[in-house]
Amino acid sequence: MSTPHRAVAIDGPAASGKSTVAKRLATSLGLIMVNSGAMYRAVTWQILQDGINPRDEAAVLQALDLMEIHCGMEDGLSTITINGRLLGSELRSPEVNDHVSKIASIPPLRARLVAMQRSYLKENDLVMEGRDIGSVVFPQTPFKIYIDASEEVRAARRSKDGEADAVAARDAQDSQRKTSPLKISDGAIVIDSSDLTIQQTVEEAHKALIKLGWED
Ligand code: C5P
Repeated sequence: MSTPHRAVAIDGPAASGKSTVAKRLATSLGLIMVNSGAMYRAVTWQILQDGINPRDEAAVLQALDLMEIHCGMEDGLSTITINGRLLGSELRSPEVNDHVSKIASIPPLRARLVAMQRSYLKENDLVMEGRDIGSVVFPQTPFKIYIDASEEVRAARRSKDGEADAVAARDAQDSQRKTSPLKISDGAIVIDSSDLTIQQTVEEAHKALIKLGWED
């Protein structure tokens, strides 16, 4: 895909801080921010809503065919609408947390969402965060960052947010799946945010981009 636009790819495990960092980085660079995890969460929410067993791949794909998914933008942040409903806080429910990794392991489902993720770059310079942004969605971008944090720190961050989320189980599934597993993509700069504040992590990310050739 040839495009004059630039993509900053931020990958990392659950609760590594990548969403917050991606948002702040996007604001400071004047780019839009796309949360790809929200798309997998939205499909999961709709599957559960439809009463479909997330382990029944054929039924999930059949339901996906009928879903009208619209990816938009509001105040510089990506939005997701399914069958006319703009999704927000429901995306972070414990049920969605429990099932999203299974749903995200289905290859044709990923293909549909990856195409939507790529379409954002046709019109915008962007920061996109997820698990496979540097490896699969925008492998050609030189601007790849991987944000990590220890398992203890990540679990503590989630429970501080009051969210029931088995981050270790989700990471194991996301790293072990066959299609587009979570991994450090070639050329990515790794930042360990365990002992950093959000602001320090954003500064490290900015320095990393400059090292990778970013020009403000
Ligand atoms: O980033 P977030 O934790 O909201 O992502 C939720 C889930 O969506 C992940 O655990 C993973 O299973 C899936 N995901 C993915 N690929 C991405 C982004 C998210 O498989 N690019």
